[in-house]
Amino acid sequence: MTTPIDTATAARTLLTEVAGAVDAPTWSAPGRVNLIGEHTDYNDGFVFPFAIEYRTHVALATRGDGMIRVASTFDETPVEVALSELDDLFPARRDEVTEWARYPLGVAWALLQAAGVDASTVTGVDLAFASDVPVGAGLSSSAAIEGATATALAETWGIDLDRVELAKVGRRAENDAVGAPTGIMDQMASMLGRADAATFLDCRSLDAQVIDLGFAAAGLELLVMDTGVKHSHATGGYGERRAACERAAAALGVPALRDVSTEDLERLESLVDEVTLRRARHVVTENQRVLDTVRTLREAGPAAIGDVLVASHVSMRDDFEISVPELDTAVDAALAAGAVGARMTGGGFGGAAIALVSSDSAEKVTDAVASAFSDAGFAAPNIFTVTPSPGAGRDA
Ligand code: ADP
Ligand code: MG
Repeated sequence: MTTPIDTATAARTLLTEVAGAVDAPTWSAPGRVNLIGEHTDYNDGFVFPFAIEYRTHVALATRGDGMIRVASTFDETPVEVALSELDDLFPARRDEVTEWARYPLGVAWALLQAAGVDASTVTGVDLAFASDVPVGAGLSSSAAIEGATATALAETWGIDLDRVELAKVGRRAENDAVGAPTGIMDQMASMLGRADAATFLDCRSLDAQVIDLGFAAAGLELLVMDTGVKHSHATGGYGERRAACERAAAALGVPALRDVSTEDLERLESLVDEVTLRRARHVVTENQRVLDTVRTLREAGPAAIGDVLVASHVSMRDDFEISVPELDTAVDAALAAGAVGARMTGGGFGGAAIALVSSDSAEKVTDAVASAFSDAGFAAPNIFTVTPSPGAGRDA
């Protein structure tokens, strides 16, 4: 993967090719990894992600004709539309727009709507994107392109929305312009990131607190172990889990599992079937584990959060049943090689696991996981560190 400076330069170079502009300003936004809090977002619960050092950069030049043109190193053909046409395109005619271009054009549309600004009053723009966020590895390249676009356009158009509002603009673009029914965790993490800190987010109130992780001072690193596995039943599995959570909440007469405590779970036993009970138990205990993680960080530091990370994995494996053998192998091998804690991260049925390791054991853990995969006959995983990093903004 390239360094951030290379990526900003790549965005500028592309802008020069597409629009002739030189030395244009750039903005960027990071991908993210979720430290803990899985499948809690749509249950109105808690999540605890952090922004990573892999970013999407956008170079921007203004133009006088009221058009918006987007270009990306991911795709040869730039896409151009009149700003005044965005309201017609989204959401009704979004299928006419090349899929990747719906992200930045959708952000332009959602931003103008959120600010109540008429398209005829803002300048036309050329936007060129380059990114080193791996796509589809569960690191949210989508939030990165949304965040880069939102911060660049808000500043250029003089739109004064705070970061939470810009995160909502990103979600609106993803939900309505792209057509992906996602929550707001990724955008909030990408917008609010800070070096060596994570975003403790209440998905009901959208209250967010940026909490120091202290990984650097404790000599800890976070490894991402991308299994490369993408299971075809991920979408169906997600829908089934969501439905089970809604069933359990309804049985207890509460709006969401967020409103259920670990003590309430006993009451649920007589109300739902055994599978639904286990699904609910994961969500209720996972919410508690997010709170425990934040408390433990404050009281005892990051080396003490290992057990709660492991408990999260066990809950996803046994109660929520969204792990796969590759993820279990990564977690088990990392722990056996001395990781402080490890768990699968993301929606499940494939994707990546994370391991919290001391810096001097990172290589040993990496080797151990790679050889466990080879012994099991799995394709080699892609293992790399991620560092809690600053959120979206203009590049220096
Ligand atoms: P992820 O887990 O990486 O967020 P998503 O499916 O949510 O995966 O989003 C990935 C999609 O976002 C890509 O397929 C592409 O359409 C769009 N995208 C992300 N980054 C870029 C980029 N730099 N240039 C163009 N499109 C991008
Ligand atoms: Mg995404």
